[in-house]
Amino acid sequence: MLVKYLLADADKLWETKEISMKLRFIGADHEVTGSCHYLEAAGKKMLVDCGMEQGPEAYLDQDIPVNAAEIDYVFVTHAHIDHSGLIPLLFKKGFRGTIFCTSATLELCNIMLKDSAHIQESDAEWKSRKNIRAGISSVEPLYDMDDAEGAMSLFKSVPYHDEIHIADGIDVKFIDAGHLLGSSSIEFTLTEDGVTKKIVFSGDIGNKDKPLIKNPEYLEEADYVVMESTYGDRVHENPPLDDFALALARILLKTFDRGGNVVIPAFSVGRTQEVLYFLRQVKVGEDEKEKVLPKEILEVRERYPHFPVYVDSPLSIEATHVFNENVADCFEQKAIDMVNAGINPIGFEDLHTTVTSQQSQQINFDKTPKVIISASGMCEAGRIRHHLKHNLWNPASSIVFVGYQSPGTLGNILLSDKKPATVKLFGEPVAVNAEIINLPGLSGHADKNGLLTWIKNYKTDVQKVFIVHGDNEVVDPFAKLVTAETGFPAYAPYTEDIFDLITGEQIQVGDVHSVEKKAKKTKANTVFARLVAAGERLMAVIKRSEGRPNKELAKFADRINDMCDKWEK
Ligand SMILES: [Zn+2]
Repeated sequence: MLVKYLLADADKLWETKEISMKLRFIGADHEVTGSCHYLEAAGKKMLVDCGMEQGPEAYLDQDIPVNAAEIDYVFVTHAHIDHSGLIPLLFKKGFRGTIFCTSATLELCNIMLKDSAHIQESDAEWKSRKNIRAGISSVEPLYDMDDAEGAMSLFKSVPYHDEIHIADGIDVKFIDAGHLLGSSSIEFTLTEDGVTKKIVFSGDIGNKDKPLIKNPEYLEEADYVVMESTYGDRVHENPPLDDFALALARILLKTFDRGGNVVIPAFSVGRTQEVLYFLRQVKVGEDEKEKVLPKEILEVRERYPHFPVYVDSPLSIEATHVFNENVADCFEQKAIDMVNAGINPIGFEDLHTTVTSQQSQQINFDKTPKVIISASGMCEAGRIRHHLKHNLWNPASSIVFVGYQSPGTLGNILLSDKKPATVKLFGEPVAVNAEIINLPGLSGHADKNGLLTWIKNYKTDVQKVFIVHGDNEVVDPFAKLVTAETGFPAYAPYTEDIFDLITGEQIQVGDVHSVEKKAKKTKANTVFARLVAAGERLMAVIKRSEGRPNKELAKFADRINDMCDKWEK
């Protein structure tokens, strides 16, 4: 059976070899997460991003519909899990090529993919225990720590701005997308049969004038652009950054005066470091040019000179180290100047980082008013839930949200107008008495205007702009807007759409209903799926063996036949 399956699949694989220079849409099409694009050119097979879908039950609904063992290269725009989270699964399914990204992305992936593997393992363990009690078979983790470590061994970091020669006919350049430390847009120059095409993948495009990291960079030339559109339907009303420190100071004063704690749920990578930057401004920041510090900041310093700040998330602590190691490459000028002057822009006295869960519990025994930053940012998991248990009931404390809260998450429920009287934490009801505060202004994504500025910078006639990574309701109107503003044809592709990049023609139409279907689909992760992936890998190895000495090929064939004989018995 297995042999038959592989032979059938082999025909399919040989067939696809005929098609040259093409782009196939795999993930983040008419949706925001699970970025993955498949590019074939100059005889090589490549993925740009290999992200995990986010949301409830994401665990069950993950697949990479390509033969992982056949992929030659993966290019990663940035470390966020919705762009990198399935790379260990790709490894598990036999991918052994090279993964290219910037060095900060490599370092962040190293901590985030291992953390993700840990989550997969414990999730599977928990589900298996439940299944066994119900008399159903156990669950395989999507991938484990060995897969994450194996994947990490394939990473190769490249500098920003250099033209990198990947293979004959494939050159790439990473530029700063200003979205997360190490984030990039990637420009491919592809040549096949004397025809050269430039295709740019925007990655996630950052917001301007953020603390710490640089603004997004712009490109001028492309035949095709694959562009994100997360906030393609809204305009940020960002208060000036100085106002953020001032708003924080006001919250600190009123909360500390009541004798409470300020609890800040924040994503470990990016947002936590930004909050540290502003807390440093409140604690020890200097007067800006022609600007004196607001009186509230001075009041905090006078009345609470040593208020402690705790970062309680192992991932945040590791990520903060990565930030500190990538100053020259990724920081904006003001932050670089601070570092050159011997100042750590995200470090200060009275900053405590906790690692063990015992240290984490200690934080709540100490009655001194303090700031606690912990993950996850939407309060769905992690140590933040312990801190909420200890502070939500207390009318003296404040819970401060500094990021977007997805509908259905605890963070969203706490921020809603009809806030419940109690919420359940660790199976127990906890009264919602603390002050709940929303502090907007720190978005990692460009808004509609920022995205339009980015695409309007192209000076060449872009043949097509593919709009991806946006909600179902956002991508189509944003595509229309791009065409209206730039004159470039724009289209929001569906999963499994395939385009010939030489002619620009669509050669396969994806399923326009895939978005709705996906919502209903639940696919268990089975050991059988792992076996099928192993079979696919075997086929890829066979294909690559063509041209080796006959003696070796005969030996290989004998081994496969022996194995098949054994398993068919
Ligand atoms: Zn991102």
